[in-house]
Amino acid sequence: MLKNDQLDQWDRENFFHPSTHLADFARGDLPNRIVTGGSGVYIEDRDGTRLLDGFAGLYCVNVGYGRTEISDAIAAQAQELAYYHSYVGHGTEASITLAKMILDRAPSNMSKVYFGLSGSDANETNIKLIWYYNNILGRPEKKKIISRWRGYHGSGLMTGSLTGLELFHKKFDLPLAQVIHTEAPYYYRRPDATMSEEEFSAHCATELDKMIQAEGPDTIAAFIGEPVLGTGGIVPPPAGYWAAIQDVLKKYDILLIADEVVTGFGRLGSTFGSQHYGIEPDIITIAKGLTSAYAPLSGSIVSDRVWKVLEDGTDAFGPIGHGWTYSAHPICAAAGVANLKLIDDMGLVENAATVGAYLNAQMKKALAEHPNVGEIRGEGMLCAVELTADRKSRAPLDAGLKAGPSVVSGMLKRGVIARAMPQGDIIGLAPPMCLTRAEADVIVNTTADALNDVLPTT
Ligand code: PLP
Repeated sequence: MLKNDQLDQWDRENFFHPSTHLADFARGDLPNRIVTGGSGVYIEDRDGTRLLDGFAGLYCVNVGYGRTEISDAIAAQAQELAYYHSYVGHGTEASITLAKMILDRAPSNMSKVYFGLSGSDANETNIKLIWYYNNILGRPEKKKIISRWRGYHGSGLMTGSLTGLELFHKKFDLPLAQVIHTEAPYYYRRPDATMSEEEFSAHCATELDKMIQAEGPDTIAAFIGEPVLGTGGIVPPPAGYWAAIQDVLKKYDILLIADEVVTGFGRLGSTFGSQHYGIEPDIITIAKGLTSAYAPLSGSIVSDRVWKVLEDGTDAFGPIGHGWTYSAHPICAAAGVANLKLIDDMGLVENAATVGAYLNAQMKKALAEHPNVGEIRGEGMLCAVELTADRKSRAPLDAGLKAGPSVVSGMLKRGVIARAMPQGDIIGLAPPMCLTRAEADVIVNTTADALNDVLPTT
């Protein structure tokens, strides 16, 4: 069946692929790839090409491919009970166990987990809960959400608005009016080259404070941020950033959502990015690493403070009017339980810290002197190489050159998947957390070879 030559034609005629140049794909100008299998950090396509997946799918297959511990758990749950809903107090052993396992790992002020299916719907839930929260507290004006330029929080109507990347707004009439964006904690692109990291963090906090003052503190409900900017360019925060931002939020009684869809469950070398950076969120968004994408599952982890108000709300107004058919789907919850256990059994949080540090260090050794490498940055099992036309001025390369995408396609030809991040010439790496040092060497050597092809040094 998979050798059926019609698959290529069916693909172009019938399948609406996300985040794709639709016209190029329909014309056949954009190649397709029909993926058939995976094992460890490798995927394989139907032509027999084996690729080292340096982006873990979409930074989600954290335990690697082909883990039978998870597929067996999925099969067993499907046979025992494929589905029952979780409305009005219904649950399964898997969903109840998973909620407990998540809270055992989360910061101690967290209270309950609401389950969704994607990072986007979890963030949608978060905003609804926050609006409900402020209505229950008698603050109907306190509704606006502050996000950051270059943040990524999904691509729904609200979550696409929260996302601070042009591609996700353009021609969609986004962002919605309730969402405003503040400065990204992007030290490489700081406004003044002489600023220290701490000074730049203070500058970001001052800009946030000014925005809150201008809008009116009583109109701002929440601030949402990823502990490390992900799709916006894989940018760890500058020193002191989260402390400075949290001081401002506390001053105005503004809730904090930590979007840990990428960073949750170990990618930074800590179970949560919140613990890694001393963030004290009121709500945490989780998805990807929760099941390592073996089944679609997300969650909103709600703090004691928010939960108490939600409870009061239902006493006053009746059951909360929010739910999805597939919330806490038993098959996905069973995948989550097996996945979190496997992360512990394989010691993957520690591996993300040690092999991730090795990957970043080796990348710096191999590329730091290249005249077009502006910055190599990362944290845990995340690494980015940002290209520049001029290291001193940090001027971007001519966008028409498409240098970042060309390096990534050169890497693909050599058997390694990286991601050309959507804004700027940034090569992104987020391999499965089970990466070995030898596999990290392959990624580094391949990046160097592809870069030297696209931007030769001599
Ligand atoms: N939040 C963050 C930080 C993400 O990186 C993503 C996806 O990449 C999302 C939310 C949206 O998740 P999904 O694509 O599952 O809707």
